[in-house]
Amino acid sequence: MAIPKTGSLVLPGDKIGVIEMFMPGDGTYEENGIIYSNILGHLEINMKKRIVSVKRKKKDFPIPSPGQVVFAKVEQIRRNSAIVIMTNMDGIFYTSSFEGMVHISQTSKKYIEIMNDAFNEGDIIKAKVLQTDRIPYQLTTIGKKMGVILAFCRICGNTLELKGGKLVCRQCGNQEFRKYSIDYGKMNA
Ligand SMILES: [Zn+2]
Repeated sequence: MAIPKTGSLVLPGDKIGVIEMFMPGDGTYEENGIIYSNILGHLEINMKKRIVSVKRKKKDFPIPSPGQVVFAKVEQIRRNSAIVIMTNMDGIFYTSSFEGMVHISQTSKKYIEIMNDAFNEGDIIKAKVLQTDRIPYQLTTIGKKMGVILAFCRICGNTLELKGGKLVCRQCGNQEFRKYSIDYGKMNA
């Protein structure tokens, strides 16, 4: 069996070795004596230790990690939480979509009675990743820079503009409330 060279890009499920030759390392799994890559990454073969592993290059394949600031689209509003899909971090778009959740207690320093008072479905939010141990990833929008950065009118669907601390629809004049970021309107701030 042909084994890819060290440094080559491998996909999940690619055969990268056999257990007679190597020990399965990080980013790999073994099935019936064959070692496969478990992730999209670069192959590393350690001939001395006879370990084969796959390393993810963060720059190439960004994944959300705790402390990162991400942009996400609000998919679903529940009473006490919002389900969001993370799309990018600092303008670097994720290759796959990651599901996140903002719990109502992590939305704002101020008391929010129902989630719909803070976000609406379709809004784009800027949030900080709290933990990535389980899915959905936990996010927070507490802090002035965090929160909604783009929102749409609940009546006509037009983009809302931030004017004097209020979100206003220029189309129909509707005024709405959100937990918005001071960077409202700026996608890569
Ligand atoms: Zn409107």
